[in-house]
Amino acid sequence: AITSAKPASAEVATPKRTKEIIAKYGFSFKKSLGQNFLIDQNILNKIVAAAELDETKGALEIGPGIGALTQRLAAEAGKVTAVEIDNRLIPILRDILADEPNTKVIHGDVLRLDLKQLFAEQFADVSGVSVVANLPYYVTTPILMKLLEEKLPLEHIVVMIQKEVAERMAAKPGGKEYGSLSVAVQYYCVPQVVCTVPHTVFIPQPNVDSAVIKLSLRNKPAVDVPDEEHFFRVVQASFAQRRKTLVNNLTAFVGKEHREALTELLLRNEIDPVRRGETLSLEEFARISSSMLEAGWGSKVEI
Ligand code: SAM
Repeated sequence: AITSAKPASAEVATPKRTKEIIAKYGFSFKKSLGQNFLIDQNILNKIVAAAELDETKGALEIGPGIGALTQRLAAEAGKVTAVEIDNRLIPILRDILADEPNTKVIHGDVLRLDLKQLFAEQFADVSGVSVVANLPYYVTTPILMKLLEEKLPLEHIVVMIQKEVAERMAAKPGGKEYGSLSVAVQYYCVPQVVCTVPHTVFIPQPNVDSAVIKLSLRNKPAVDVPDEEHFFRVVQASFAQRRKTLVNNLTAFVGKEHREALTELLLRNEIDPVRRGETLSLEEFARISSSMLEAGWGSKVEI
């Protein structure tokens, strides 16, 4: 197990220290910012171990809070950059991280930051970067989709998120958890649920259970598609109404007049038109999207 170089008394992630820091700075939690701070050393160990860091690597943390995870990252990685939206936390973080010269705190909203520029400025000297964070749950999906769609040069994304969202990301075809989020995540990454986490390891406790998920970025996407945007539109259309068959959902996508041609296209691809979207693999979605483009149902088609 990874242990911090710090004396145990300096670790932020204990109930006692966290309460002391909150009292010292008169900090009050904002539910609207998803502020649930981790107070459990074992969970921190698991997160940091999953990230496979060493002194040649960089870590981007989103939402450092009062620095519980940041401290650990500083002990393991060569460079840590933490982006925090709440300006009340910035002076606290500066104090807590005063002895961590490899760590930089940036005040900002990660959804509005130019991450390509941030990477160029912060991580020019490291051999690889991973995102490691206990994410604010109200913006988990937008944050992860931003990281993936901007095609940032990432090795792993190791994040604490809602358990139910982690299960959807890692779901295989055939179950009710499998949907467009599973396809999007698995297109870019190999997902692995590291552990599930009870709500008792946070202050304050969230209403839901959590999980740590590790997303390892693929060198190239899981399937070859001629037009990514079209592929994702087909996926979304296929899940538009989960009770409907594939042919019904996709007819709504391409227009009623094309229903017959669409049925033929699916059959030609050895895909039964009455299957439901939730049974299709990424490879099957890719085949449909490519054939549709060949048939001229490309970007002109609106959902
Ligand atoms: N990392 C700390 C920990 O594990 O104890 C805090 C995690 S807490 C679940 C989420 C943190 O994300 C909070 O500090 C919150 O202020 C911050 N946050 C919320 N929205 C954000 C955004 N859009 N950009 C950056 N940080 C954000």
